[in-house]
Amino acid sequence: MKQKKLLYTGKAKSVYLTDVKGKLIVEFRDDITAFDGGKKDTLKNKGSYNAGVSAFVFSCLEKNGVKTHFLEMLDKKRMVVRELSMIPLEVIVRNLAAGSIVRNYPFKEGTPLKPPVIVIDYKDDSRHDPMLNDELIVALKIATPAELKKIKTAALKINTLLSGLLVKQGITLVDFKLEFGRQGKTIYLGDEISMDSMRLWDKKTGESLDKDVYRFNKGDVMATYNRVAARITKKPGAAAKKTVADPKKAKTKTR
Ligand code: C5P
Repeated sequence: MKQKKLLYTGKAKSVYLTDVKGKLIVEFRDDITAFDGGKKDTLKNKGSYNAGVSAFVFSCLEKNGVKTHFLEMLDKKRMVVRELSMIPLEVIVRNLAAGSIVRNYPFKEGTPLKPPVIVIDYKDDSRHDPMLNDELIVALKIATPAELKKIKTAALKINTLLSGLLVKQGITLVDFKLEFGRQGKTIYLGDEISMDSMRLWDKKTGESLDKDVYRFNKGDVMATYNRVAARITKKPGAAAKKTVADPKKAKTKTR
C-alpha cells in the first residue's frame, strides 16, 4: 500500500489517502497537547506507544464483536484504517468522577458512577467542544435517534470490555473518549483508544497512568506511557514464560 496525499492534520495524528479505495493511513505523531491546544510538546516515541495501545485495544474489541476502523499496522506509528465519514461527537464514558465533571458539578473525585455516565460533546474546537444532549444532536442533524441509540449501546459495551481488559493489568478505567463514523449505514468506532483518550489509575496506588501526567506535570510522561503501554499490551502469562525462558534461571531451576 502506498501513502498518498495528506488529508487532515489533527493535534496528534495525521490522516493520509492511500492508493487503495476506502482505506486511509493514520499516523500517530509524537505531538502532545492539552487544554484546547494551550499546552503543546513533542515527546519522542509517544506516537508509537499510543498507536500500539490503540491497535491492541481495537483488535480485542473486534474479537468481541465491536466494529472498528482498524485494519492493520504498517509500522509502529502508522495504522491502516477503513475510511469513515466521521460523526462530530466526543462520546465520553465515565466510571468514576474525575476531570471536568468534578470541576463542573458537585462530585467528589473518585466517586463511583453506577451505572456509568455517558457525556456527549460536540467536536468543535472553535466552540470549545460544548456538551450536547439527545435532542440537540438530532436537531443539529448530527445523528438520528436510531444512530444515537447504537452509539450509546456500543460505548457501554466497549466500556465493559475495556474495563475488564485493564483491570486484569491492575488498572482502573476511570473514563475515556470515543469517536464514531459511518461507512454506508454501518457505524464503526474510529479515532484512537490510548493514554491520550483514557483516564487510567493504578488500582493499588491510585497513580495517574495517562495524559493527566502531562496535563498536571505529575511526572515523566514518556516513562509512564512506556510502562502503561507494556502493561496493557502484555499477553496474559507472558511474564511467567519469560522467566522460564531465561537460560540462567532455567539452569538454576533444573539443578
Ligand atoms: O476532561 P474530561 O474529564 O472531560 O475528559 C474525560 C475523558 O475524555 C478523559 O479520559 C480525556 O482524556 C478524554 N478526552 C479526550 N479528548 C477530549 C476531551 C476528553 O480524549 N477532547
